[in-house]
Order: sequence, then C-alpha cells, then structure tokens
Amino acid sequence: MSAKRSGIAFVICAPSGAGKTTLSRRLLDKFPRMVLSVSCTTRLPRPGESSGRDYEFIDEQEFILRRDSGFFAEWAEVHGQFYGTPLDATWKLIAGGRDVLFDIDVQGASQIRSSLPGARLIFILPPSLHELERRLRERGTEKEEDLKIRMSAAARELSQAHWFDSWIINADLEQAFQDLCATYISATLSPSRRPGFLAKLLSEWGD
Ligand code: 5GP
Repeated sequence: MSAKRSGIAFVICAPSGAGKTTLSRRLLDKFPRMVLSVSCTTRLPRPGESSGRDYEFIDEQEFILRRDSGFFAEWAEVHGQFYGTPLDATWKLIAGGRDVLFDIDVQGASQIRSSLPGARLIFILPPSLHELERRLRERGTEKEEDLKIRMSAAARELSQAHWFDSWIINADLEQAFQDLCATYISATLSPSRRPGFLAKLLSEWGD
C-alpha cells in the first residue's frame, strides 16, 4: 500500500518578537520533508543572507513586472518593501509531495487562504503585549522610535489573528514548539492529503 501523500501549505504569521523565526527554523530542522518557500523581495540582503536561500533579492522594476504577469501566489508591501511568493515553484513543491512553510505577513496569509484552499494557517501570539515589548527591548536591535512602530504594527497584526486555523501562544518556547509540531503533524493527517488511499484499500476486499 502506497504511503505517498500530497504536500501541504503551512503558513506561519506572527508580530515581530513573538518567536516566529526561531520556531520556524526548528520545525524545518526537525521535519526534512518540509521546505521553506523562498520569497522574492525588493529589500536589500542583511549580513549573512544569501539570494536563493533566504530570499530572491530583486529590484522594484523586476518585482512589478513579475507581479503584473501573475508570477506571485500572493504579494504584499511590508515596511515599505515588496515581498511575494512565486506561484509556480510553490505548486511544483506541493505537487511533488513536499510540505511548504510560508513565513509571510497577514496580508499574504489572507491571499494564500483564497489561492491555496487546503493551506493551514498558524498564528503565533505572545502571552501579552507587555511581554512582547519586553522581548523586543531585550533583543536590543530596535531604537525607541522603531520599537513604538513595531508595537503598533503588532497590535494591527494581532487584530487579524481571529481568522487563522490555529494559535500557538508562545509563553514558553519549548511548549510552543511542541504545540507547533502537533499542529503540523495533525495537518498532515487530513484525509484530503491521501487522495485515492481509501478507494485502493477497499478495492483489496475479496482479493
Ligand atoms: P523581513 O524583511 O524581516 O525578512 O520580513 C518582513 C516581513 O515580511 C515578515 O513579516 C515576513 O514574514 C514578511 N514576508 C516575507 N516574505 C513574504 C512574502 O513572500 N509575502 C508576504 N506577504 N510577506 C512576506
């Protein structure tokens, strides 16, 4: 009996400071079947980032050309830069049985919900806004002015969390990771991921 199944789209959103990057990396390390969707962006690479692994870094003119030709499954402007998920590459991965992790913002998640109907949408929440602010301060990467911008962006993003499929409340990183693994495994167990399996099983009756 074949154990083949189609891949799934697993979308993770969170305000900055909620632990999305750490949790996503751990998930990708633990489950080799899962791959990260590599987005295109107009923002410049940060130190240590490479094109093709973290993002495909392109200029605004190229982004607009691609966007207008239907190249993207979703796209959004985030913090003044464009970001988009290539449609073809995503389809090929999912059809080939790979599970694809999308690290995108809430505008993109809402478009994926329409364009990939079986996608599982996960929102990572901080236990409180006070704790989120504490973590952002501890990170020490933000100036006071930027911190205020991040906090008001966080409140805006959190106001969209109600339409997601699952919430991971990251009060404790280990517990949040266990919850995320459970959510992912449960998504892979949906009967819709194994088209034809039941019919084949029942066809063995009387063999
Ligand atoms: P950063 O520039 O820090 O890597 O990402 C900034 C924000 O853009 C993050 O919230 C990230 O999830 C989001 N983002 C990254 N790639 C995409 C994408 O392809 N589409 C959308 N909608 N958002 C993205």
